[in-house]
Amino acid sequence: MSSKANFDDSVKDGAETKSFQAEVGKVLDLVVNSLYSNKEIFLRELISNGSDACDRLRYAAITEPALIKEDPELSIKISVNKKGRTITVADNGIGMSHDDLIENLGTIARSGTAAFVEELTGDSAKDMTLIGQFGVGFYSAFMVADKVTVISSKAGEETSWQWQSEGSGAFTITPIQRENRGTHIELHLRKGESEFLDTERLRHIVTTYSDHIAHPIQLDGTGVEGTETINSAAALWTRPKRDISGDQYKEFYHHVAHSFDEPWLTLHNKAEGRLQYTNLLFIPTSKPYDLFDPARKHGVKLYVKRVFITDDCQELMPAWMRFVRGIVDSEDLPLNISRETLQRNPVVTKIRTALIKRVLGELEKKAVKSPTDFAVFWESFGAVLKEGIYEDADYRDRLVDLLHCHSTKGDQLVSLANYVERMKDGQKEIYYISGENMDALRNSPQIEGLVARDVEVLLFNDPVDEFWTGVVREYKDKALRSVTRGDIDLTSLSVAADETEGKKKSRSSDDVASLIGAFKLALGEEVSDVRISSRLTDSPVCLVADEGAIDIHLERLLKQQNRLNEVSKRVLEINPENELIKSLAARAKEKPSDPVLVETAKLLLDQARIIEGDTVTDASAFSKRMTEMMAKSFAKV
Ligand code: ADP
Ligand code: MG
Repeated sequence: MSSKANFDDSVKDGAETKSFQAEVGKVLDLVVNSLYSNKEIFLRELISNGSDACDRLRYAAITEPALIKEDPELSIKISVNKKGRTITVADNGIGMSHDDLIENLGTIARSGTAAFVEELTGDSAKDMTLIGQFGVGFYSAFMVADKVTVISSKAGEETSWQWQSEGSGAFTITPIQRENRGTHIELHLRKGESEFLDTERLRHIVTTYSDHIAHPIQLDGTGVEGTETINSAAALWTRPKRDISGDQYKEFYHHVAHSFDEPWLTLHNKAEGRLQYTNLLFIPTSKPYDLFDPARKHGVKLYVKRVFITDDCQELMPAWMRFVRGIVDSEDLPLNISRETLQRNPVVTKIRTALIKRVLGELEKKAVKSPTDFAVFWESFGAVLKEGIYEDADYRDRLVDLLHCHSTKGDQLVSLANYVERMKDGQKEIYYISGENMDALRNSPQIEGLVARDVEVLLFNDPVDEFWTGVVREYKDKALRSVTRGDIDLTSLSVAADETEGKKKSRSSDDVASLIGAFKLALGEEVSDVRISSRLTDSPVCLVADEGAIDIHLERLLKQQNRLNEVSKRVLEINPENELIKSLAARAKEKPSDPVLVETAKLLLDQARIIEGDTVTDASAFSKRMTEMMAKSFAKV
């Protein structure tokens, strides 16, 4: 499906009629038909867009002053027509061209949209919560309006355009004659939404949600001569911290981040040393839809002396901190800095270093002081920080210290320091297992022996775990050890029943040797080795990677991404204490050539593969064998 709604449905008298992109249709249906309890936020959204448009014009005018010359006072005007039942929100910002209107108000160009629409359930209560997090921006106008008319003139262009829609399926675009620069949005209110014709009500909404907007918001028809400015109209971050309420910070966050959750962390600082800048940064509470989408936008915005420069200043934040939102306002950078030269700018680099350290410092504090709160952050963004361990050697040590993991001991997240503190006497290594699914990891055969010895195993289920564990080989002199690779020596760690086990072992080792011989013969090239396992206590067999080979889970990931064609051979480990293995061992001693040994070897290998989440090499052969085995066992009953 095309992401653009650029097919003409019809053209009549110069007016083009176009369909909304399918995703917009879904969003609009929801917006129009659901009883959204917070309809007043439409005004916040329109003002937020108007403010962005003013910011963008001011930036463009740095290099092209003519764009702004005739009308240099940027503002947002709200007016009401009680008789006609309309409200108008107008800005004299950058404006939209014909194509901008189609692209911006006919599609949702935002990354993560597909994922969002996929999550919609059709249950309107649930969907409203989702939409609340996603944010509908401009389309929220249709919560209160049954017809929206947008008239826009892009700065520097001749023609103005009128966009109009009733919010169901289609919109029209018509060229019109108009002088003013900017965008003029008229909402024709639905029945029952008359409260929004009341200027006092509008004033209250603006004060609640939009006071932080740096451009003046003017309200017409309040009784005051002409228009009245009803917000503070100064950049929020320039005010002293003590004068800013939590709600004001939150509303600013909604505007700047285009997110609609609570900020998990708010960081407002003014640096006044050799480097002069203000930062007002936020960490969201919930994971944005596009966290792992390469096309994502909305990081940290850069301002120079209150003038907006760029939306998504990647130079200010490393990719592994891409969850940070907000603004940085520098006093040192030149106003005419181009977006292209930001990367090589030493001031930007220094600010970046300072910000990384500040954010890390806050995270470190939270991890110690409020672990429950920190866990919320970690669940949302831990996987992103882990990318830094892998990519960024400068911060690796600090990030490893900050790392939190699930483990076999309880549901609480543990740090590596926690782990090392509670290591068992005689334990020399930090054990971990990685895979896709937490429950499957907890039930993995490879950790049975460790769990039986009360040894903690870390459980990793982010794909990135495979990568950072490749560069962090040890922590506090303790090696990090995957339990699915190589041989594990558990002899220094006792199990309660170890003594009796020792006796049994010596008795049965002969038999097991014959079984291993028979299995090796049966499996041939399918495995790299068959050996006795020290990691199993219950399951009969498990697979592990050879010491020098690529680990099991990493190999699967690479295969899924088509970055690997061949799968390396595994070691099949067998558990001499398992009842089945014991009987088989006795049989192998008695009659090494018994065909049942070949069949069982193959079945057990396939079983082990299934537990790993791998596919069996020959599914029909597997099920045939399985059926035969079952038939035989029934025949005996
Ligand atoms: P967002 O603001 O998160 O990008 P919106 O749905 O609010 O999403 O707006 C969509 C896009 O439409 C904006 O990104 C912007 O490009 C454009 N737009 C909306 N309102 C205006 C406006 N008043 N002036 C200029 N462009 C606008
Ligand atoms: Mg918006």
